Amino acid sequence: PLAGKVALVTGSTSGIGLGIARALAEAGSAVVLNGFGVVSEIAKVRDRIEADYGVKVSYSSSDMSRPEAIAEMIAATIVGHGRLDVLVNNAGIQHVAPLDQFPVEKWDAIFAINLSSAFHTTRLALPAMRQNKFGRIINIASAHGLVASPFKAAYVAAKHGIVGLTKVAALETAEEGITCNAICPGYVYTPLVEAQIDGQAKAHGISSEAVIHDVLLAQQPNKRFATVEELGALTVFLASDAAASITGVALPVDGGWTAH
Ligand code: NAD
Repeated sequence: PLAGKVALVTGSTSGIGLGIARALAEAGSAVVLNGFGVVSEIAKVRDRIEADYGVKVSYSSSDMSRPEAIAEMIAATIVGHGRLDVLVNNAGIQHVAPLDQFPVEKWDAIFAINLSSAFHTTRLALPAMRQNKFGRIINIASAHGLVASPFKAAYVAAKHGIVGLTKVAALETAEEGITCNAICPGYVYTPLVEAQIDGQAKAHGISSEAVIHDVLLAQQPNKRFATVEELGALTVFLASDAAASITGVALPVDGGWTAH
């Protein structure tokens, strides 16, 4: 369904972003990968996606906390691929601490990467999308964009913020063939969540299994992690023509968490 399209997925060297990049490539889209990691391993991932799906895949190492690096990435995408149709704002980090002990530099980093980066990519991608009268902006928010948990002040605030940004972008582009939606995953088993499991196990002196079942999946009524494949398939659908009338929504993929 996405043959001839060009997709950029921020934070796609790992976890959800990588799953989404693969799904978009499988659907026929060229893909720009972005994120941190070992250069040789990223090159292997890039080659693998190209070989598996026969689409052009490039990579930008731009740091999503730096507006000028974001501008370079968007410009390189348009120069290198000739267009930008699907923008997936996925890069994100987490830090867990009580509000009165929350490190100020972590607050700033989470806001820059989880929220401001999407403002910058969106404002810079819109002219190219408007030119083609087609665009799909898909923001990977979180169940924490809709509800809160303790000790995640910056993450919850930034994710609520990106849901708001999603709605504004949807309204401003509604007549132009462009849609903007947020996907709100519950817990997905990725390196980001693995780090939280390890951290909580140490902090509470309990096993990783206990953290998974008694803390994380306690929130999620279906009692299992969502998968990167599920999120990839939803992203492909939102990017397709079939989803042309869906805009400005924040769609939970959380096994019932936010139905509570
Ligand atoms: P992850 O840690 O596996 O992947 C994060 C990606 O972002 C990596 O590719 C990393 O290199 C990249 N990244 C981090 N900082 C960056 C920066 N400054 N510039 C460029 N790239 C950067 O995490 P994940 O679990 O796949 O999370 C992806 C997104 O999904 C995040 O926005 C996260 O908040 C959201 N999310 C995750 C879950 C979950 O349970 N895993 C649930 C809801 C929402």
